[in-house]
Amino acid sequence: MLRRILLIDDDRLQFRLTHRMFDSFRGERFELEWSDNFEDGLARLLKGNYTACLLDYQLGPRDGLELISAAVAQGCHTPIVFLTAETSANVDTAAMNAGALDYLVKGEITPRSLERSLRYALKLGDTLGQLRQLATTDQLTGLLNRREFDRLLAEEVERALRFEHPFVLVLLDLDHFKDINDQHGHPAGDAVLRTVAARITGAVRTIDRVARIGGEEFAVLLMETSLEEAAAAAQRLVEVVRGEPISVGDGVRLPVTISVGGAVAPTHAKESAALIQAADNALYAAKRAGRNRVALAS
Ligand SMILES: [Mg+2]
Repeated sequence: MLRRILLIDDDRLQFRLTHRMFDSFRGERFELEWSDNFEDGLARLLKGNYTACLLDYQLGPRDGLELISAAVAQGCHTPIVFLTAETSANVDTAAMNAGALDYLVKGEITPRSLERSLRYALKLGDTLGQLRQLATTDQLTGLLNRREFDRLLAEEVERALRFEHPFVLVLLDLDHFKDINDQHGHPAGDAVLRTVAARITGAVRTIDRVARIGGEEFAVLLMETSLEEAAAAAQRLVEVVRGEPISVGDGVRLPVTISVGGAVAPTHAKESAALIQAADNALYAAKRAGRNRVALAS
């Protein structure tokens, strides 16, 4: 299947020129799609699943720098190559600072330079994607890591306040995890953490986010969820983890339980640290009440 490149340019001639250049590429063939204005271009870039984007500087009354900033702010990771009629070094630097991976001056583009630039942007885009993955993922479990969780939580608290969409923060802690490490060794502990991570992930919806935020501590963000719905969801997590003993190799199967605490934003807290505190207090209450259970903030 051909990989798709989006050209955002208000000049039909540029589209025809680019199309002709694509036809004479020597390596991989790409499908070229065209958008001739800012709004349509941005919308298609954000949901179009394009391999890369060629973006014009002058887009009617608006400009490509503004479009890159808007796209990046909305989480767009599509590699962007900036096209401009200007040879000004300022535009060059501004484009790269805004998030473009390369920069071409329209009058100087040849099929070879365009092909090379696209190939370079694709390769760099892949590398950046891998780095992003490493930077946001917990290596042992494949879940989001603490840093990414903190970032998402702040974003969700903001959203909950602005749009009055509640969400629930659930904190989970493995009961007596230290004993597993002490009695069966760290590889067994790691196997338990991986299995628990998989069970939690399997028990929540795809819109929810799951992170490992400490040694044996996990967090789940249940989106668009009320406290009542959260109680049921949290109880499901307790059950799915304790449902079956976990195999840790050598035929050893260990019964594992978790304690769970939950709090709702913005009902219980209007900022991240306070929300974590509220959920953590609930988790502590669940531990004190005998572990292997759910407690929610009140
Ligand atoms: Mg233009």
